[in-house]
Parts: sequence; C-alpha cells; structure tokens
Amino acid sequence: MRLRDRFPLLAADPKLHYLDSGASSQVPADVLDAVTRFETTQRANVHRGVHRLAEAATAAYEGARDEIARFFGARREEIVFTSGTTAAINLVAHSFGDALAAGDEVVISELEHHSNIVPWQMLRDRRGLKLKVLPVTEEGRIDLGALDGVVTRKTRLIALAHCSNVTGAVVDLARVVAAAKSAGAAVLVDGAQRVPHGPLDIPELGVDFYAFSGHKMYAPHGIGVLWGKRERLEALPPFMGGGDMIRSVTFERTTYAPPPTRFEAGTPNISGAIGLGASCRWMSGLDWPGIVQEEMRLTGRLLGSLAKVPGLRVLGPLGLQQRLGVVSFALGSAHPHDVAQILDRHGVACRGGHHCAEPLMERFGLAGTTRATIAPYSEDADIDALLNGLDEARRLFA
Ligand code: PLP
Repeated sequence: MRLRDRFPLLAADPKLHYLDSGASSQVPADVLDAVTRFETTQRANVHRGVHRLAEAATAAYEGARDEIARFFGARREEIVFTSGTTAAINLVAHSFGDALAAGDEVVISELEHHSNIVPWQMLRDRRGLKLKVLPVTEEGRIDLGALDGVVTRKTRLIALAHCSNVTGAVVDLARVVAAAKSAGAAVLVDGAQRVPHGPLDIPELGVDFYAFSGHKMYAPHGIGVLWGKRERLEALPPFMGGGDMIRSVTFERTTYAPPPTRFEAGTPNISGAIGLGASCRWMSGLDWPGIVQEEMRLTGRLLGSLAKVPGLRVLGPLGLQQRLGVVSFALGSAHPHDVAQILDRHGVACRGGHHCAEPLMERFGLAGTTRATIAPYSEDADIDALLNGLDEARRLFA
C-alpha cells in the first residue's frame, strides 16, 4: 500500500499534490480513528470526575503522554502539553525568562521563525536583558562560527530552530550545546520542522528544552509539547494559573502540582493529545530508514531540477548534507503568492510568503519565497506537477 493511501484526504483526491506539510501535515486514518474513538466512546474531562467516562478519558490522555514520552526517549513527567511550538516557547520565555535580569543575555539566530523571536523580544522589554542574534551564512545556515564571539559568561539561554522552516538547514546541536555548557547557559530547541521527519531521542541531544507542534507531525491542530529536562522543569514556576495545576489553594497561599501538571492550567486539548499520542504510535510503526532515504531522493531530485530553472534562486543548502526536505526558492522577481497561485492551478499546494521569518527574508533581500516540503507521503508525481507549474509560472512572469 502506498503511504499516501493511509491519509484519507490524499487518498480521496489523487490530483492533489500536497507540498505544504511544513505548514501543516496531513493526518493518517490511524490518528483520525483514535480521535473519533475518544470523542464517541470516552469523551469527558480529565483529572476531575470519578465516573467511568472520566476515568477512561484520564487514562487515554495520560496514556498519550506515555506514548509520546516513549517515542522521544523521554520520561512522562518531562512531556508538557501545550497548544503548539509557539505556546511552548512562550511558556519558557515566562517561566524561565522571568528570572533573568538586566545584563543577562539570550541568543537566537537570524533564521528563526517569529515564534522564536517575538517572545524573546517581549522578555527583553520586560526584564531589560540583551537579545543577541547569530548571523546566517549565504547557504542559509546558522553561522555557528560566530558562537564564540556571541556567547559570553552573561548568556543564560541559546534558543535555535533544529531545522529552518525556510532553508531546510539542520543545525549542529552538539556544537551549540558545547558552547552553552562552557557559558553555563541553557539551550531551547524549536523542533517544529524536525519532528515530522522521523524518530528522535530528545534527551540524547543534551539540550534543556525542546518544543514542537502536533499538526506538523500527522496529529491534530492545537496540540504540541514542551519537553523539558526534569530538573529544569522542577525548578521552574508555573506560567499560567488555574484549575488542575495546583496542589492546594487558599486565599493566603497556593502550592503547585509537580511537572508536568504545574504547566497545564485549565482543561487541556484532550482529543488533540490523544491524536498526538496516536501519531507517535503510528510513526513508530513506519520504516524510517526507508522513508528518510526516499525523502532525500525526492529532495535531491527537486533541488537538481530547480537548479536548471533559469532565473530561479534556491534559498538554502543545495546539497543534502545536514538538511531536510524543506525547499524554498524565488523565481526571478515574481511574487511568491503569484507563483503559489499558478502552482495551485496544477493541483500543487505550496506555501508562498515570508514564512513568519521576516528577518531572514530581509537578510536575503527578498519579500518572500515559494516553499515546497517533502513528506513521507510525497511522490515523484508531486515533483513533476510542481515543475510543470513552475514552467508555466516562468512563462508568465519571467
Ligand atoms: N517554529 C518553526 C520552525 C515553524 O515552522 C513553526 C510553524 O510554522 C513554528 C515554530 C510555529 O508553530 P505553531 O504555529 O504550531 O506554534
């Protein structure tokens, strides 16, 4: 069976060439079934009721946490459910960041998604600390050669994307962790674009925080995870207050539950968490060496074909080393929205725009790019359709 056929939306529309998984992936039947099963047989709130349904819902929700922890080599108490990567980074910017003071430094890079820029700017403005930015090379990678000059004894946190959502470049985290360690700083990784491309042992990375979104890894929207090293999470105060995150409440004093509950105030996205657990279970059953090889073959084919299109500029590494199948390009002076619209006429779903990375666009002097993302369900026919669409776009705009 083609992997594509396990995704009902793709199976129902053979003419659709979905190359926008970097924005949101499609969802396989196994995950949809798990969500439907919860909503139709177990739906109730969690951690509250003692009736049969409430207990079933709590078991399903906490079972999903176990499944996610297992998939990422983590402990269950290190998996904090959030609404996504953005919420996870904001959580750290508050719970960890609010202990920082004037004189402290946070380091990010020029290629970050706005969700790994704006929370740190807001923290800078709240706490008066300094925000430093690692430059990006011509190839579209974070320039780790600049670490020595940027990271100092005042650095408290280095926050970087594992894989760029524009250039597809994968950062060498071992070098980042080494630099952070020598400065006594923590490391936060935005893993939004890394997690869809195969299993990962997060604790092995040696980082302190790792954020990702379910909707980019074959799960529903509105659910994500902040993984935090247990000792780190235990030392942090909560970000939001409310139901479920407490041990006891009086008007004089509230004490907080241990992690992860401390960071999950209010009724969570229960069906989303169950969907994310199901997606981890589904991903565990796939042949990842085979999928990675195929994703890289398609990425190589796409990069090779794009290199032959006159007037087209790829924003990102042209080789396959330390990169994933997130491929951005500019076609002459054509606006990326116009290019994406022509591609749509060929059944190709691609993202066009600044990809929530305006500083990176400025670095390269572009208003935006067109972006194609290769996913496990991508096929040669998707690349063919993209190249046909580009032919037309070039005739119209070049
Ligand atoms: N970081 C990166 C690298 C992304 O690609 C995205 C989404 O496009 C995000 C963060 C934000 O993710 P979310 O909107 O799910 O919070």
